[in-house]
This record gives sequence, C-alpha cells and structure tokens, in this order.
Amino acid sequence: MRDISIIIRYRKAVSYGHHVLLGALETLSADVSYEVRFATSAAAVVEEIKKALPTAHRVLVLWSFYSPDALEMAAELQRIRAEIDDPAVTHIAGGVHATAEPVQVLDAGWDIAAVGEGETTFLRLVAAGGEPAGIPGLVYRDEAGGLVRTGRAERRELDAYPAFSVRWRRFNPIEITRGCVYACRFCQTPFMFSAKFRHRSVENVKRHVEQMVAHGRRDVRFITPTSLSYGSGDENVNLEAVEELLAACKSVVGKQGRVFFGSFPSEVRPEHVSVRALRLIKRYCANDNLIIGAQSGSARVLEAAKRGHGVQEVRDAVRIGVQEGFRINVDMIFGMPGETPADAAASLALARELADLGARIHAHTFMPLPGTPWREATPGRVDPETLRAIGELTGRGALYGHWERQQRLAGQLADAARAYPRPGKSRTLLPLASDPEPGPSHGSGGTAPKR
Ligand code: SF4
Repeated sequence: MRDISIIIRYRKAVSYGHHVLLGALETLSADVSYEVRFATSAAAVVEEIKKALPTAHRVLVLWSFYSPDALEMAAELQRIRAEIDDPAVTHIAGGVHATAEPVQVLDAGWDIAAVGEGETTFLRLVAAGGEPAGIPGLVYRDEAGGLVRTGRAERRELDAYPAFSVRWRRFNPIEITRGCVYACRFCQTPFMFSAKFRHRSVENVKRHVEQMVAHGRRDVRFITPTSLSYGSGDENVNLEAVEELLAACKSVVGKQGRVFFGSFPSEVRPEHVSVRALRLIKRYCANDNLIIGAQSGSARVLEAAKRGHGVQEVRDAVRIGVQEGFRINVDMIFGMPGETPADAAASLALARELADLGARIHAHTFMPLPGTPWREATPGRVDPETLRAIGELTGRGALYGHWERQQRLAGQLADAARAYPRPGKSRTLLPLASDPEPGPSHGSGGTAPKR
C-alpha cells in the first residue's frame, strides 16, 4: 500500500500547470511513496480513482482551470462525486481561478483550493501524505465547516523548479519569466504571480533545452507575460539578456532545431518593438510572425486599463514588424469597462488601419476576471457597429478570435462576482448557474494559457 496516489485531471488547455507540478515532484526528497495517474475525462477520473483506492492510503485528484472554465469543471466534479465519493479521495483545485476565488471553489465542491504558486505547496502536501493542516497556500473547511486559510504560498525563483517534467515525458514551452510589472487592470497575471518579474536564468533554460533535444524535441518556445522583458526588472528592454538567451537556445538546438520568440504562446508589448529587437529575433529564431498586445485603439481606454503604452506605439510596432518581414497578429479587447461609442470607434479605426498594413486582429471581448481590479466591472458587450466591422474584417481574413464565446462567458463571470461580492467571502446573492463553456483566462497575452 503506497502513501498517495496522485490523479491529474489532465486537460490540454491547462496541461502546462500540471507539467510544472510534475517537474517539481521530481525534486521531492521526502520519504513518501506515491504514484501518478492521468485522467483526460470525467469518466477516466472515476476509473482511475477506482483503481487507485485499493492501492493507496490517500488519493489526491489535481484540478486546474481558468475562471471561464470554472462552471464546466464544477459540473464535471459533481458528476464524478455522484459516482464515487470516498473520504480517502481529496479533490484539489489550483490555478488562477482557485487563487482568486477559493471560497467559490470550495462551495462548488472541491475539498481544497490551492492559492498562489503551486510547486512548493504541492510538494509539502505530498510530503504530508495529503494532510493540508499547516501547509501555506491552502484554503479548506474544517470538520465544523469553518474556513481554514493556511497563509501565503511560497514564491521561489524560477530556477528552483523544472519548467516541465522529464520523468513523465511531459514537455511544454519553457517559462522564462513569471510575474508582470505592468499590472494591466483586466489581467490576472500580476495578481497570480506578483507585479515583479522573476526570470529563469540562461543556464537553467539551456539545461531545459538540452533535455528537450535529448528527448528528440527540436522546437523551443517560451512562456512569458512579455517576451522582450526577459532579463529586465522594469519597463526597459534588456536586449543583451535576450540575445544571451536566444543564442544559448539556438546553440543547443542547432541547425535542425527552431527557437520561437515573441510568438505563440507569448507576445511582445508594442513599445518594446524596435528594428534592433526584431533583427535579433530574426537572427536566432524561426518564427515568421509576432503577437503584439494592443488591446484598444482609444488612448483614454489604454490609460484607464493602465496599459502603459499609447496608440501610436501600436502603429509603430506593426509598421516596424511588417517592414522587417513578420506577419503581425494584434491582440485587441472590445467592450472594455467605460468604453464609449467614441472609444469603440477609435478601436475599430485602429483595427482597420492595422489590417490595411497587413496585420491580423485577434479579437477578444472584455471579461471581468476574478482577482483583477476590474472583477466587478460591467461585462463586455460588442455593439452593432463593432459587430458589422468585425464581420467585414473577418471576411477579409483580417480578424479572428473567440470574442463571441467570451461575450457569453463575461456575463457568467459577472453573475459569479455578484454572488460573491467580496473575493474569498461566502456567497450572498446568486447561485452559480451551470452553462459550461471554456475560454481563455485573460484578453491579452502574458501567461494566460500556461497557468
Ligand atoms: S496584459 Fe500582459 S503586460 Fe499587462 S499585466 Fe497582463 S501579462 Fe502583463
């Protein structure tokens, strides 16, 4: 009989977060016996629990999801519990939604909400045989139903833990930077990981690339809130650090390998784009496209969102990018809080102007995300004039995105925010509706899909 069986509720949309936990697990030094199982559906979770229960004292089921997925995941958990609800099984929710809304998560049926960065918390929980008492970074209810908060999770340097799991062959883009100094008001990243940059060292990244190559992988991508912030502690660009990073990666992957920087799954801020920066990327990297975060064509809205750049920087970045031979994708969010018809018109005008330059617009609808300063803001609506323009740009192949789905999700998030008017406090108004629909965690780039 082993101490613990760990079941990962494995979903492609959030796989990176689980890979990071598995990577951390490889560093565990505690004397505890465990196994890891993967479940890619609700039925598979039930199946794996049934297999694990006779062989382990405790079964930990790990879940991770973004705020727009929370209702769907809660419905799935209910189905699983209806089939198998054993006291030896603990369902743990981690990730950005559990961090922002731990009480919602507990009320929705999870046993424990893991709040903040998960690696150290997870290792301590495994070392303790799955017993949460006294482990920082957890919220749960005691036997009397009282809320227990164990304090802030430990934040360590990125080099402290692997960016993926070699042992379980679960690779993903390498997280080179965590946290973000910009603190845009619609974004969950600074809230989740702090408003400071922490960078993985070049040496550590290089070791990851060597491991990838040793396992037959030749494409290297990065996770970062803002690619050209690598090596910087503030808003400035440190191209020497960026070059050191890219040169090191390229030296490992060689001619057969490819390094991607400033493209999926990350992006660049417009004011960081320069001829020198883009030539550096061309020198070492294989990407023919860049993702640039613009978000709005209204200076007033950009200011209100605390984006830290203006509209002209977006125009300049797209022009430089096109001139240097990149295909440019521009992230824009429609229906931002307080957006007037004039602001919406300015965004549309910018979208058309950038499309005429050859850019493609990646359109989002504003969603009031938990943990952000705009959690309580009115959910984004796309007005009829914007809809017409979106249709026209889509028809030209100049616009894409899940903006319609996000518009529906924005309403659900607003309902949840009204039901829990103060984050972390008990529900006072509305029940959680159940209309499952997945979606991204924030309307910009940054670390959204990664954790
Ligand atoms: S939107 Fe991008 S730049 Fe702004 S806080 Fe989020 S990750 Fe940072």
